[in-house]
Amino acid sequence: MNYKNYILLSILCNITLQAEISQIRSFQEAEAILATTDKNTLVLFDVDETLIYWADKIQYPKFKSQWQDMKKMAWERAGDRQTLLRSKIFLKCKKVLIEPFVADIIRQLQDREVKVLALTKMESGNYGIIPLMEEWRYQELRDLGITFKSWSDHRMEFSQCVTRENNYPVFYKGILVTNRHEKGEVLGAFLDTIFEREGYKPDRVMLFEDQIGNLQSVEQELASRGIAFEGYHYLGPYPDAEFDPIIAQYQLDYLHDHEEWLTDEEAAQHLASGIKSCN
Ligand SMILES: [Mg+2]
Repeated sequence: MNYKNYILLSILCNITLQAEISQIRSFQEAEAILATTDKNTLVLFDVDETLIYWADKIQYPKFKSQWQDMKKMAWERAGDRQTLLRSKIFLKCKKVLIEPFVADIIRQLQDREVKVLALTKMESGNYGIIPLMEEWRYQELRDLGITFKSWSDHRMEFSQCVTRENNYPVFYKGILVTNRHEKGEVLGAFLDTIFEREGYKPDRVMLFEDQIGNLQSVEQELASRGIAFEGYHYLGPYPDAEFDPIIAQYQLDYLHDHEEWLTDEEAAQHLASGIKSCN
């Protein structure tokens, strides 16, 4: 290749592989761009803090500076019961769609045969009293009106990634669960598997996600594969709320003593009735 052609190829590659990460505060801002997708586009949605939020305030990331020491002490005190106690919070804490119309957006994309999946960094497999985390997440989203159509009814495990807590990252009913691996790494393993099985390779990938590090992880993986990427850093709208450290500490103490999670409302009722957290 002569020098001129080399320069031209470099410019073309840069244009082709150019990735963008934009900020959005509502899925309304993404409706026009989503209308440009087709069956060769893969649209990915993060779940926590992108599709849903957890209703109890101690689960709000924006209050992290207020709850992180409290939770750290609670998990230290829990010792080997930590996973059990956390799984009780997972099961009991109510989940709410941040923007309910996102369920319609996902259905409309599916009606146009656009591939739409969830990409979540949560644990896979068994966790505490939850036998299969991916089934739990599937059921919670389904109950909120969101289902992700899958390539396969079978659960796929990505054994090319290392295990964590004896579990691999998995793909299950349209939900790609990284089991705490980087999202780019697991998306890459999924794309390899689906290409081998189905010959499918998207020509464009979009990710809606509240964590910038996860967007960058996916951006790097797709750049290495020559797939165009558009990332959307989702910033809300999250509900207005105030953190109450007395309720939060009561919830953690009650969880420690009774192995039961109380919602914010239940904890407030206990406090108002003078019920002590410990036996
Ligand atoms: Mg998230």
